Amino acid sequence: MTERTFSILKPDATERNLTGAINAVIEKAGLRIVAQKRIKMSRTDAEQFYGVHKERPFFGELVETMTSAPVVVQVLEGEGAIAKYREIMGATNPAQAADGTIRKLYAKSIGENSVHGSDAPETAKVEIAQFFPDAEIVG
Ligand code: ATP
Ligand code: MG
Repeated sequence: MTERTFSILKPDATERNLTGAINAVIEKAGLRIVAQKRIKMSRTDAEQFYGVHKERPFFGELVETMTSAPVVVQVLEGEGAIAKYREIMGATNPAQAADGTIRKLYAKSIGENSVHGSDAPETAKVEIAQFFPDAEIVG
């Protein structure tokens, strides 16, 4: 089934000029980038986006990290896009990520792990709507 997922190329990736390198992995996996923009996340954006983690000990650090430099927000489209992107991202902790995954190739640490991808259809919908009006998504 063709579906859409929400992706973020995180500050550690944009700072190291890895937008193109990560997009190449995404496109090679057969996912299409149907919306993309580079933004500086506000604190409010980041707190809302990661609201599910607000009681976790790393929440403050997570918000600081996500607002520390520009990010690239994207909508990816393809067959089983949500699971496929999670697969090519690799495990949250790069030390546990499989060979060839984005996090294995590029992540610096669990906190600076280069990419975000939605984890389910409901979260994908909410996350896409936080950053993209329908008119900015061109499939
Ligand atoms: P994401 O939601 O960013 O795609 P994920 O779904 O693999 O990542 P989550 O459990 O949702 O992982 O955690 C969200 C983000 O919070 C992680 O990507 C990571 O940057 C940060 N994070 C998670 N656990 C830790 C931790 N123990 N210490 C520091 N940061 C963490
Ligand atoms: Mg997550």
